[in-house]
Amino acid sequence: MHHRTGIVSRGVSILMLAQLSAVALPAQAEDFQACVAGLKSTALRAGIAPAVVRRALDIAEPKQKVLRLSKIQPEFRTPIWDYMAFLVDDQRIADGKAVIRKHAVSLARAEQRYGVDRYVIAAVWGIETDYGRTTGRNFLPHALSTLACRGGRRAAFWRRELIAALTIVSNGDLPLDKLYGSWAGAFGQTQFMPSTYRRLAVDLDGDGKKDLVDSIPDALGSTANYLRRAGWIAGHPRLIEVRVPADYAGPEGRRRKFSLNDWAVRGIRRTDGRLLKGSRRAGLLLPAGRHGPAFLVFRNFDAVYAYNHAESYALAIMHLADRLAGGGSFKTRWPTDDPGISRAQRLQLQKLLITRGYDIGEADGKIGKRSRAAIRQAERKLGLKVTGRAGLRIYQALGGK
Ligand code: CA
Repeated sequence: MHHRTGIVSRGVSILMLAQLSAVALPAQAEDFQACVAGLKSTALRAGIAPAVVRRALDIAEPKQKVLRLSKIQPEFRTPIWDYMAFLVDDQRIADGKAVIRKHAVSLARAEQRYGVDRYVIAAVWGIETDYGRTTGRNFLPHALSTLACRGGRRAAFWRRELIAALTIVSNGDLPLDKLYGSWAGAFGQTQFMPSTYRRLAVDLDGDGKKDLVDSIPDALGSTANYLRRAGWIAGHPRLIEVRVPADYAGPEGRRRKFSLNDWAVRGIRRTDGRLLKGSRRAGLLLPAGRHGPAFLVFRNFDAVYAYNHAESYALAIMHLADRLAGGGSFKTRWPTDDPGISRAQRLQLQKLLITRGYDIGEADGKIGKRSRAAIRQAERKLGLKVTGRAGLRIYQALGGK
């Protein structure tokens, strides 16, 4: 579906015909074909095997889905408690514990070689692709060409990612038909961008190839290598849940680091009752303000942040890792009377909406526009506050357990 044969040669001839007869093609189609031709030259100059270039860039038109997705501005801001409930749910914890047992040898090897905690490696895998279940269905050369030729200011970035992707194939690490991933080019078990793959992928299983698509050991080892290069320090904490005094007005934020002793002086206390002390430096993270859960985060939090620049993401990874290692849920509740729900509950919520006659298409667990519209209608009908959120209140009001 992503890979069309025979179209580019036709495209070129249409282009020539257009030039000869001076019949104007729609400028965009012509521009796109000229741009792809330019990408081919660039790829050949970069030393990519001609056969790989031919097969990968046999593309006549931009991929509409990629263009659409690249323009979407999230119209719905996800509260942190929804984000966390979705990413760190019972299913992901149970699945994670199972994969940690199943891949114990690879995780131990990755941990030993790169000094990165196995629970964090597993958590990245679990959150990026649900432990390899959802790695993305976009053919990367097509998606990246679309972005390179229509990506505006970032065209050079996408072009470099495209060349990196083709280099991975050209140098024998992966066959071309394994290059499927997100619309923005992240792929494999732990969703590396092609340039990151080129820089940091490792061959942990020792078969001579760096395969982050089908080799779980390679993917786990590469994730560990990434985190180590991002500054992971072996043996340092993931995060510490704390309480802040009600009248706290001191510094906060991941970057404003002070020693644990300093935090203790400022009245910060661990929620597990242990003493906060030592010279190790941490920042105070208040993801939902002063009345929600609070955390001291260390250098290793920054290393995870480097993977996907969002503090909520790093928090989800560290918390999932804690849970996989046997830790419990947060001691402080999120400051809301309508908490987030798990993936299983989201799916059930959709089924409940369908049962009540709301047209949301098929229940797939993904809360999109139609699900949110149906939730708003149901909330209105039930006399609840209208939020359009898949939260616990509407879930329970519709009979969810
Ligand atoms: Ca390998």
